[in-house]
Amino acid sequence: MKHQLSQRVQEIEESITLTLNNDVQKMLESGRYIYNLTSGQLPFKPHSPFIASISTELNFLKSFQYPPSEGFRELRQKFLNDFMKSRQVESSGMDCTISNGSKQSLFNALATLVDPGDEVILLTPYWVSYPHMIRLLGGKVIEVQTSVYDSFIPDLNEVEKSIGPKTKAIIINSPNNPSGVHYDENWMKAMAKILVKNPSVYIISDEVYHKICYFDPKPVYFYQFEPSLLERTLVIDGISKFLASTGLRIGSCLGPNEIIQGMKRMQGQTTSGANSLIQRALIHYNFDLAQDYLKAIHEHIRSNAEVLMEVLEQENLSHLWYQCKSAFYFLLDFSSLPILEHCDDKKDYSSLVAKKLLEFEDVAVIPGGPSGIMNSLRLSLVEEQEPFEKGIRKLIEFLKKFKL
Ligand code: PLP
Repeated sequence: MKHQLSQRVQEIEESITLTLNNDVQKMLESGRYIYNLTSGQLPFKPHSPFIASISTELNFLKSFQYPPSEGFRELRQKFLNDFMKSRQVESSGMDCTISNGSKQSLFNALATLVDPGDEVILLTPYWVSYPHMIRLLGGKVIEVQTSVYDSFIPDLNEVEKSIGPKTKAIIINSPNNPSGVHYDENWMKAMAKILVKNPSVYIISDEVYHKICYFDPKPVYFYQFEPSLLERTLVIDGISKFLASTGLRIGSCLGPNEIIQGMKRMQGQTTSGANSLIQRALIHYNFDLAQDYLKAIHEHIRSNAEVLMEVLEQENLSHLWYQCKSAFYFLLDFSSLPILEHCDDKKDYSSLVAKKLLEFEDVAVIPGGPSGIMNSLRLSLVEEQEPFEKGIRKLIEFLKKFKL
């Protein structure tokens, strides 16, 4: 029987990252060795005090029952305290909701702000889910382009030009997935000035990689220079990345009370709130310990970034290198490489290239086209060093020798 799905759902594309991850998992299960450079999660066990806290909470009935739809009060306060301490700002007038992962926090935030016809500005490269969420809500995506030659840092004149009468919000994701850079202090200061000049624009600051930074100086934010901007900023965070807990599905959103109340209503009617057991375990886990846990992980990512830089240098591709600093990704722009010699330079071939790489070279990567940068590939830096280097070498050889 042919089913008639809603127009809304027909227009949603499959998440490319999750699809590729599933393909890779199937290949691994069939015994095939894959150089897996797709990973959007740290391949390590979470911090042991956090695991111990989960075990303890298993003893309580409350851990198995409905949570308050906006999250347990102690945990919401904990996210607010961690925010004030780590960003050195006051959070008076701000509230917090806990959701099933930052992805749901983002969707609730957008659903609470965006009406059909509203424009939302995305800075390329962006996280692949943003445009789908915006379009699902009837919003229009406005892109600000960047390039590898500017280390994927958006030009602020272009950002300013993209703001118009229909602009409802801008999403700023620093540290950034997929580029692995964070915007520096000068950029954030100038961005703050632009935002002050445009008082009707809301800001969604996706900070899920805030604690994952292996190169100084650390990430800073526009509201640290203009604290009044917190009156219209939603800060997205969660435990998936910094506690290596993507499967536990806990995200948070901090923002002005009225918007958070709207998000709470939205969540109450759709999911009734997030996992009680994990929320309670987090209440008893000291967030300050996370930096200790992340130390070895930061070193691992940094040394893979160095390997990548050396390989690009040896292959005479240093022009494709920029200093990645945070999160755990690098975006390789292959638009100048021989693989595209006979191709239309206005088209994106990143998905095709990723498919062929997996088929012919057993190397799995994420195409960068769906992140707004044509003919680029996202490489994850979390794989063990030896297979990482081998995978990179195979990938570059393929991009140099193969012609589409
Ligand atoms: N935001 C960014 C930039 C991400 O990269 C991700 C996940 O990859 C998320 C949000 C969602 O994270 P989660 O829903 O696992 O908390």
